[in-house]
Amino acid sequence: MGAVAARRNGAGAVVVFGSLNVDSTSYVDAFPAPGETILAHDFRVALGGKGANQAVAAHVAGLPVEFVACVGDDASGAFARETLERLGVPMTAVRLVPDAPTGVAQITVADSGENTVIVTGGANLALTPEMVEAERERVAAAALVLTQGELPVPTIERVAVIAAEFGARFVLNLAPPAPVSAETLRVADPLVLNEHEARAVGIGTDAPSDATLDEWRALAASAAGVVARSIVVTLGGAGAVAADAAGSWAAPAPRVTAVDTTGAGDGFTGTLAAFLAEGRSLPEALRIAVAAGALAVQARGTVDSYAPRDTVLAASS
Ligand code: ADP
Repeated sequence: MGAVAARRNGAGAVVVFGSLNVDSTSYVDAFPAPGETILAHDFRVALGGKGANQAVAAHVAGLPVEFVACVGDDASGAFARETLERLGVPMTAVRLVPDAPTGVAQITVADSGENTVIVTGGANLALTPEMVEAERERVAAAALVLTQGELPVPTIERVAVIAAEFGARFVLNLAPPAPVSAETLRVADPLVLNEHEARAVGIGTDAPSDATLDEWRALAASAAGVVARSIVVTLGGAGAVAADAAGSWAAPAPRVTAVDTTGAGDGFTGTLAAFLAEGRSLPEALRIAVAAGALAVQARGTVDSYAPRDTVLAASS
């Protein structure tokens, strides 16, 4: 009863268990060879990590969000906390881990547009199943819980179990494609994947690289209820597809000029989760998330490229 009442009040409607990184990006003419030192022509530090990005996207979509994450007691952790605070994401569940560095992604972007990324999990790896247990009250009050493949596998699996216990919708973005149990995948509603991750879990493994949106819709339809309760596959500039027991849908992306696709997938997933938590149907949330993704690629940055709720809704209508 308590949980239902809290959900009606909208308190912590979306709980994100996720990674938080600081992205340090060097912009170079060309990648250095092993042993070589080169000078970068630009450098940027920004909040990152799929969990943090998706929590910000759900918050920007207008839903009450709780973000459960771990940061180190260091300058990067302080920067990440300040950034979340500036964006208005509640900090109550972001824990300080004294003995580990804040997660970091060292990114190098060459003039060719190619990049290399080295992620050090650091404090993110301290987000244990026990820590998930300690947040039961938050899950009990939530309409939906969202997590990603960047957390330790036993942690992801515990999130699924506790969500089921309290009847909260479990949304899993299996990015990267972590080896979670088939049982965990099966309760995901939806399991959100990009094309590469879909193939990694056996959806569209034999599909040609130029498979159409409609072909992916059919592939998602055949996996819904088998691999996961429902399935969403994002297909970059083509848009995204979704399927559940009630049907399958394709949402083409509008033609836009992409200036920075970093974080578009996270913007998509956070928006999808927010509108599902609000009670929208899967095809409706899909259409809105595709609009959010298309807006995100038209602006520079990751969390700073997420458009506000009204802009996203106007673009999706
Ligand atoms: P990821 O970055 O996780 O691989 P995608 O590249 O599939 O994810 O992008 C996620 C979503 O962002 C897409 O489904 C689409 O809605 C939007 N998107 C990405 N690239 C573009 C683009 N070039 N034009 C319009 N929308 C895009």
